[in-house]
Order: sequence, then structure tokens, then C-alpha cells
Amino acid sequence: MRVSLQDERRNFMDVYNLNEEEEKKLILREYRALLRGLKTRIKKGDKALIRRAFEISADAHKDMRRKSGEPYILHPLAVSRIVVEEISLGVTSVICALLHDVVEDTELTLEDMQQEFGSTVAKIIDGLTKIANVVDGNAETSMQAENFRKILMALAEDPRVILIKLADRLHNMRTLGSMARDKQLKICSETTYIYAPLAHRLGLYEIKSELEDLALKYTQPETYISIANGLKETKRERTRYINEFIRPIKEELTKMGFKFEIYGRPKSINSIWNKIKTKHVTFEEVYDLFAIRIILDSEYEKEKEDCWKVYSMITNFYRPSPERLRDWVSVPKGNGYEALHTTVMGPGGRWVEVQIKTERMNAIAEKGLAAHWKYKEGAPRPHENKLDAWLHHLREVLNNPDTDTLDFMQDFKLDLFTEEIYVYTPKGDMRVLPKGATALDFAFDIHSELGARCIGAKVNYKLVPLSHQLKSGDQVEVISSGKQKPGEDWLSFVITAKAKSRIKYYLKEQKRTVAEDGKEVLERKLGHMGVPLNPHNANELMLHFKKQSALDVYYAIAVGNIDLKELKEFTVHGDKLVPPVKQNEPKQQEAPADELLKKPAKGAELVIFGESSDKILYKLAQCCQPIPGDDVFGFITAGEGLKIHRSDCPNAARLLSHYGHRIVKTKWAKNKEISFLSGVRITGLDDVGVIKKITNIISDSLNMNMRSISIDSHDGLFEGTIMVFVHDKEEFDHLCNQLASLEGIITVERIETTDQK
Ligand code: MN
Repeated sequence: MRVSLQDERRNFMDVYNLNEEEEKKLILREYRALLRGLKTRIKKGDKALIRRAFEISADAHKDMRRKSGEPYILHPLAVSRIVVEEISLGVTSVICALLHDVVEDTELTLEDMQQEFGSTVAKIIDGLTKIANVVDGNAETSMQAENFRKILMALAEDPRVILIKLADRLHNMRTLGSMARDKQLKICSETTYIYAPLAHRLGLYEIKSELEDLALKYTQPETYISIANGLKETKRERTRYINEFIRPIKEELTKMGFKFEIYGRPKSINSIWNKIKTKHVTFEEVYDLFAIRIILDSEYEKEKEDCWKVYSMITNFYRPSPERLRDWVSVPKGNGYEALHTTVMGPGGRWVEVQIKTERMNAIAEKGLAAHWKYKEGAPRPHENKLDAWLHHLREVLNNPDTDTLDFMQDFKLDLFTEEIYVYTPKGDMRVLPKGATALDFAFDIHSELGARCIGAKVNYKLVPLSHQLKSGDQVEVISSGKQKPGEDWLSFVITAKAKSRIKYYLKEQKRTVAEDGKEVLERKLGHMGVPLNPHNANELMLHFKKQSALDVYYAIAVGNIDLKELKEFTVHGDKLVPPVKQNEPKQQEAPADELLKKPAKGAELVIFGESSDKILYKLAQCCQPIPGDDVFGFITAGEGLKIHRSDCPNAARLLSHYGHRIVKTKWAKNKEISFLSGVRITGLDDVGVIKKITNIISDSLNMNMRSISIDSHDGLFEGTIMVFVHDKEEFDHLCNQLASLEGIITVERIETTDQK
């Protein structure tokens, strides 16, 4: 059986073809399944509330259908089931999930919700409604950041808002097949940009992987299908290998008296694709297509001991790689993940990753935060409140009015994905920081005032500078001085969002103080001219001196960057300054695609390349260098007109989610007159004459125009980059095939981006 994108669509058609009676039955069946899943968590009176929520939702959506044709109510029902079955939330969340689209879509108000279900439910629904269109394509960047901030605010207030939102998004991604192509791209980009990272941060590994896989499926269907098929085709061989690997371990675990589960699990399609991309390997060369999981039924007090016992036993059979041992049992990850990971040499000389955890740890890994809370009732654990600490920190930063939202979001996104290190205060308290954090980050993490006064630190009793990078296990003592002031350069050696935003805040404050002096000087000079420093005059000066703000003008005066003699060129009318007329000022250059900018670009606009290329000017994005035949989209830039990116461009997700309104659909038309610069990376065995053979192919047999070729060889292997002009993807693929058929060539691949380091 081969996987195809059609499977999913067919399911919808089945639903679509039902008659009214059958639809009703289907809805009731879903509702009952929801209740079954909740069974153990339902208390007296809950059932009536859930029923009420279901009825309200069904009634509110009764005339609505989804794009697929199915009755709308199936969506809130599906979201509720995800909330119960995949995130382990309880009754309150189910009620909210059932009602999550009601306030947005109907006349019903939050007050109605409050009366019917109380304030907790109303608050969560409020949060869900506010972030409903959070990545609204029509918003400008700052708006986007503001919206992202809203998501995080809602998260910090009640994490259930985000968990339900993630369930909503997951169901929308699962049913994306019936949406229009441009909608699919936009929804996918939001998913990779915001929702998958959030799921990861909240420890919802299953959901994170599924979201990423689905995004890949719709943005790069060919890639997705080829990997999915690769996995299917190699399944038999893999199962055989896994069984061989597991057999001795299974026997031994039984002998040792463990109750356990052991199985091999394929890695997600997206993570395999990442390996192929970043390591420049083929599917066949990705060695860790799966991981072995051992899940122990272990007593709470004996968890750690048991995990290590199992680790030690495994190493009796297979040699472990010492660099690849990860102990998240002693110190869990910040998102709550606990497990022991090791990579061992399996039969046939293959490296195999083994994950050892207990049932409790596994529940946390799969269901994240919610499961985390559920287990909280047990004995307190030292690191258990890490998520709470994170949420607390989030609230703190978001509530600070001086936080620059845009910057914060950028930094915050980085925080979501980085690995963590664990460092200690002199008293032995542990702090978690992202990998790469410096002594200065540590100081700001302890307290922003301490950060601002930090002059250095002692790491493990040795004196180090502010910029010193910390390692896990370091003990850090901050050294501070009352005379210290944050400087511009500090920004280059902190990496945490907290430190960055505080430093920027201090710098701004410093600037403000200096600017005060400049303002005084200016007021005096203007006084001599007989005009006041009113908003109009401040604005004129701002324009004249080409500064962003009045503050910048004052600051520039204070530090001597503006020559106030120029004031003499101004004339005075009443209390107004009139700027000197400038001669021959060049007119602002109009970008060729400005016309396009004026028209609101709707998703439906179609730009056809080649044939109509004389009508619309465009540039090819440097970052991904598309050629005709590639799946592309157009992006209207502010100054450079229309730029064409490949749909799988590394920048695509950010562009699509931030500037959805500037995206135009594009496709290629046949045109053999224009050629495009494209690159190939080849590797092979270094035998004499190979370069000659390669250049022959390009210039003789294919009659192509080669721009550059560079080849490095070492230890009998060579690696080369060829930049060549081609007309379209067909021609490019033909070239690659020709090259690949040469003797001695090992790999031939397209260069994804030019700015890759
Ligand atoms: Mn929804």
C-alpha cells in the first residue's frame, strides 16, 4: 500500500454523502465517544453541563458546514475528544472546547457563557476567542507580535487556553485537505512558526510531531510521500532488526523481574526530513529511522534506580556511545520531559537510540503539561514546578510595560527551542538557562538589578568576564559594582529574552537622560530665534535632520552629531520654523511593483511568469533561488517589488505567517528565453579527469552556461559546487541525472540556499 494525499479527502467525501439521518447518528456517535473518554473524570452534575454545552454548540452551528462539507459541530466534538484523549484534560476543558467557536461565530456572548457555566469557563472561552485569528494575515508585523503576545498572555493566565487551542489547530491540520492551496500554506506556516514550538515547550511531543508532519505533508507533498513510502517499504526489514535487537534485552528484563513494555518506534517524517536536509544524506543513509523505547512499570521511589539498572544491563549487550548519554531522569528538561537516552552499537554495526523511562514519565512525554499536573498530587519532586516557574517568568516579562513586544517575541521564539543547561548559585540553588547563556545572562536571570550592575563572575571559584559561556554544572557567583552601567556591546553576549529586554530598557533610559541635555540646548537656541519648541517645530527638525524621533534629535544634539548652526537656514513664521528649500533633491525612487502594493493583493491574484514577465517585474529571492518548475509564491516587498520564493524556502514560514496579505499566488509559464542561476553540490571519488567529465556534460552535451565551479578534494573524495544557468526545473533535473550517472559520483543535490553557513 502506498500512501497518498487522496486517502484523507475520500474520508470527507464519505461524510459529505451522508443524508440527514446518518449525519445525526454520526454526531451522536462522536458525542458518546467523548463521554466514554471522560468516564473516570466525570463527577456528579458534570454530565448535565457537558450535555448543555454540546446542545448550545450544536444549535449555534446548526446551519454551518466545514469546507469539507461535514456538519460544523463535528469540529468542536473532535477538538473535545483530542482534549480528553490526547491531552488528558478534564470536564471544564471539554465544555470550553465544545464552545470554542461559539462566541466568535454567533450572537451568544461571554456573559451568556458566564451565566450558564461560570467564570472559569467564560475566561477560557474569552482567551480562545481573542486568539482565534491571532496570525491574521492582514495584520502588520507589530500587530502580529501583539497577537503573539496575546497568545502568551492567555497561556500565562490559564494554560488550558493554549492546550485547547492546540487541539483546535491539530484538528484543523488533520482536516486541511479540503482547504484551498493558499489557505493550506498559510495555516501550515502558522503551525510551524508558533503552534509546533509551543507544543514542544509544553512537552506535548506527540502533538508537536504530528503538527510538523502534517505541515510538511501540505507544504511539500512530494517529500512527505516519498519519506512515508520509504518508511513503509523498509518496515519489514526494520521490524526484523528491531526484534533481533530487542530479544536479549527482553529476556534479561524478565529475569530481573521487571514489568515493562519494549518496542521500536519510527521517528517522525519531519525529523527524518530534517536529517536529510541538514546532513546532506539520502533516506537510505539516515541511520536512526527509529528508536527503541523501554517503558517500566516502576514504583515512584524506585524510578531512578530502575532506569539506571536497565541502562547498565543494556550496556552488557551493546556498546554505548559515551557522548550520547542524556540523563533527564536526574534533572528533567524544562518542559517536564524525563527519560534516560542512550545510543548503542546494535547488531550489524548500526547505532541505535534507546529511551528508558517509566510509565509516569511516558505519560508526561506524551500528554505534556496536563499529565504533569495530574501526577502532581503525588510526592513533591524537586524539579516539578519548573513549568510553573516558566509560566511565572512569562507573566512577569509580559506584564512589564517596558518590554518591546517585537523584540521579545523574536527572543522568546529562540528560547522555545534551545537546549538547556543547569547551573547553580553559590548556595546551591539550581537555575535553568538556555545553552550558550553567559555569566551576564545568569546575573539577569537572578535579578535585573544584579544584571545591570554585573562586572564579572566567579565560575567554580575562577574569575571570568561577563561574556563567559556557562556549562551545565557550573557554580556561578555574580560580582557587581554600584558604578557599573549596561552598554550597547552587552547585547552581543547575552542570549536570553529577559537579559536582552532589560539591557535595551536600560540603554533607552540612558539615552533619555543624555537627550535631556540636548533638549535644553535646543530650547535655548530656538529661544534666541524667538520660536518655542512645540510639536510642529520638533517635527520639522526631525524631518530636516532625518531622525526617527524627537528623542533622537535631542540625543544627537547632546552628543554633537547634529550641527545646530544649520538652524540659521530656517526661517520663522509666527511661532513656526520653516525649513530651508533644498535644491535638486532626488525624488524617491518608485519601486516597480508599487502598483501592486496599492491594490490590496488578495490570495486569488495570479501572476504568471514567463509569458507575462514584461508586465510584472519581479526578482528571484536570493535565499532560495527558485527556477521555473519549482513550487513558488510571490512576496511583495516594501522597496524591491515582487520577490519570488520557493514554497520550501527556509524563510517561507516566517513570511507567510507574518505578512499573509503581501503574498500573491504565482505559477510558472513556459518560457525558454530567460535563464536562472542555480546551484548543484556534488560529491564523489577523486579520480583524475572527473572535473573534465563534469564540465563536458554541462557545456557540451547540455549546452548550458556555467557560471562557476569549485571543487575541493581530500582523502580521495571530492566535493564541488557548480553554479549554472538553467531555464527550468526540468532542465535542472536533467542535468542532475546526467551528473549522477557519471562514474565516481556519489551524491548530486541542489543547493538549497546561498547564504548557508
Ligand atoms: Mn475551531
